[in-house]
Amino acid sequence: MNAPATVKPEDIRAARTRIAGKVLRTPMVEDPQLGALLGVPVFLKLEHRQTTGAFKLRGATNALLSLTPAQRARGVVTASTGNHGRALAQAARSEGVRAVVCLSRLVPANKVAAVRALGAEVRIVGDSQDEAMQEVARAVRDEGLSEIAPFDDAAVIAGQGTLGFEIIEDCPEAHTLLVPLSGGGLAAGVALALKASNPDARIVGISMARGAAMAASLTAGHPVQVPELPTLADSLGGGIGLANRFTYPMCKALLDQVVLLDEAEIAAGIRHIHKVTGDAVEGAAAVGVAALIAGKIIPEGPTVALLTGANIDAALHAQIMSGALPQEVLA
Ligand SMILES: *Cc1c(COP(=O)(O)O)cnc(C)c1O
Repeated sequence: MNAPATVKPEDIRAARTRIAGKVLRTPMVEDPQLGALLGVPVFLKLEHRQTTGAFKLRGATNALLSLTPAQRARGVVTASTGNHGRALAQAARSEGVRAVVCLSRLVPANKVAAVRALGAEVRIVGDSQDEAMQEVARAVRDEGLSEIAPFDDAAVIAGQGTLGFEIIEDCPEAHTLLVPLSGGGLAAGVALALKASNPDARIVGISMARGAAMAASLTAGHPVQVPELPTLADSLGGGIGLANRFTYPMCKALLDQVVLLDEAEIAAGIRHIHKVTGDAVEGAAAVGVAALIAGKIIPEGPTVALLTGANIDAALHAQIMSGALPQEVLA
């Protein structure tokens, strides 16, 4: 395992300056219904309205702009098909940098098309995510491309952390922050920003019960692998890397609690957010609100739920709104 490493609050401040004007400053609204239910003020940070439909544009943009001019001239590479892949493609296009996204043959055609539509070069390699990752390593070694990892990267964590400073500005009295938790780049960054201003702030990471790698790792005391299962919170799937350097030690140090949710609870969160904001959000974005509705978080002071992404299939969202759940997440 590599040595544990960390990010400092000043890295997040520098990221904020670097990405200013290149990402949206998203709004925060109060949720009076949840406030009445819980007896504490509840606020929603509407980051699912970020360009590309997710906060990952912050980390990808900061990482891209932190490269040297020579590195930028050669280009960047990733294997992510999800919100990070989209964000990196978008950031690279804005900066005129070449982006290569390595995908396995199993990635559905619509996802391939979405990455291409953002101007990235798609390489289809092998039959698994592992093989796509090997192609990333090869491109770094043989072509001099710079890998921008989805979460275990100092510049990515600092970029995501800029959300923490926006939350403090919009709600200085914030005491409890509810953060969706997957690889932990988001949670590490925002927790660091918030605790730098208010050491007493409480940070709760929230994942789906089906395949929560960071939660299992924190329980085990070291990074572990968990089986990946279908979930409404698909953006929270995937491992944290057995050679994790940044996000495991940072989450261990900074998270006060981790909460796990079942699929019906996540669906209730999606429905509530639609009722309050009129927006369709993806399952990963709904977990904070879902945890509050499910009574899994003891209310303590003004509470902010971070809504992270809007990239949900329209037919799936309609199905959830009708009260039904897809068969594969019920198995
Ligand atoms: C990536 C992602 C997360 C989790 O972020 P990590 O840094 O991997 O913990 C949460 N919500 C959405 C919508 C995402 O795309």
